[in-house]
Amino acid sequence: MEKNVLVMIPGPTPVVESIREQMARPIQAFGDPRFVADYKELITELGSLLNCSGMTFPLAGTGTLAMEMAIANTTKRGDNVLIVSNGFFGDRFIEICERKGLNVDVLSAEWGTIVTPEQIDKKLSEKDYAVVTVSHVDTSTAVVAPLADIGKVMAKHPNTLYIVDGVAATAGEYENVDEMGIDVLFTGSQKAFGVCSGMFVVWASKKALQRRKDLGTIPEYYVDFEKWIPIMENPAKYFATPAVNLVWAMLEATKIIKEEGLKARAERHTKNAAAMHKALESIGLRILADAGCRASTLSCVIYPEGVDDAKFRAAMLDEGVVIAGALGAYAGKAFRIGHMGNATENDMIVALSAVERSLKACGANVELGKAVGTYIAEMKK
Ligand SMILES: *Cc1c(COP(=O)(O)O)cnc(C)c1O
Repeated sequence: MEKNVLVMIPGPTPVVESIREQMARPIQAFGDPRFVADYKELITELGSLLNCSGMTFPLAGTGTLAMEMAIANTTKRGDNVLIVSNGFFGDRFIEICERKGLNVDVLSAEWGTIVTPEQIDKKLSEKDYAVVTVSHVDTSTAVVAPLADIGKVMAKHPNTLYIVDGVAATAGEYENVDEMGIDVLFTGSQKAFGVCSGMFVVWASKKALQRRKDLGTIPEYYVDFEKWIPIMENPAKYFATPAVNLVWAMLEATKIIKEEGLKARAERHTKNAAAMHKALESIGLRILADAGCRASTLSCVIYPEGVDDAKFRAAMLDEGVVIAGALGAYAGKAFRIGHMGNATENDMIVALSAVERSLKACGANVELGKAVGTYIAEMKK
C-alpha cells in the first residue's frame, strides 16, 4: 500500500475529506445548468469573500499564470513597473515583466526582511509607474509585507495600480481588496485554500478593469480579462473549458473559509504561527524572518550547526512528514514548513514531533517532546 505522508510543504497543503469528495464527483458537462450555477456561485462567493467590487476570475492554471494575467492586463510594452521583492517569488515578476518589454525597477529586501512602505513611497514620487507588484507572503523567506500600509502609500499615487501576489497568503493572512486599495490580487488553489493545485483566482478592481479597457488589444489571449468577463458574468458561455471538479473543490473550500470567517481564520493562523515559532526555537532552531515581519502561513527555519539538509529531510520522510528545502542562499542551510489552510493543530504536533526525532537522528542534541510541549502550551493560552 502507498505510504500515507503528511504534506507540510508550503503548498499543496493538507486537503480535507469534504474537498477531496468534490474532486471525486462524476464529471458534468461545463454547460450543464447545475455546473453553471455552481461556477456562478463560486465567482460570487469569492468576490464577496475578499470584498472585491470589480471582477473575480477563478480559472484553470497555477499561481504563476495568475502573475502573467496581472501584468498582461495592466501594462503595455515600454511601461515602467516597480517590483517590490522580499525574496524568490518577488523576483519572479522581474523575468515576467522583462519578457514583456517593460522597464523594470526593483526594490529588494535582504532575505528575512521586507521593503518598507516609506521606501515604496519614495520610489513612486521619483517616476511614473504603471504598476507596483508586492508579494504578500514571500514563500522563500516566509516574510509578510504590510499590505494595508502599502495601500495607504498607493492611495497617494492613483495612476499606479497595486498588484498583490497572495499565492501563499490569501485565506491565511487577512486581505481586503476594496479596503486596502488593491487593484489586482491573485492566489492559487493549493496554498491556504487547501485544494489541490490547478486553479488560480484573480480579483480585479474597477480601476484595473478600466486600465485593461484603455490598453485596447493586448498580445496575450488566454489570460485576457476581456475574453473572460462575459464568462464570469454568465458561466453558461464558453471561452475555454473550466476545471469542473476543481471548481467544485474551490466552492467547498470557500464555504469552509466563510464558515470560519476570513478574519477569524487569519487570527487562527497568527496564533498558530507564533506557537510554531516558539516551539521550533525551543529546540535550538532559528526563524529566518525578522520578528516584526514573520508570515503566519509558513516558516523558513535555519538548521543548527552540523545538521545535514538532505539527511534531515530524509529522516522527516521516514517519520511520515514532508517538508520543503530552502531556496537561494539558504538552500541546504534551512527548511520550510507550511502551516496554513486547513492543516490542524494535530498536524502541527505530528510535524513538530517528527522534527524533534529527525534532528536527533542527525546528531543534534534535542530533548524529545520539548517542541511539542511548547506548542501545546502556547496554543492553550
Ligand atoms: C507558490 C507561489 C507562486 C507560484 O505559484 P504556482 O502555483 O507554483 O505557479 C507564486 N507566488 C507565491 C508567493 C507563491 O507562494
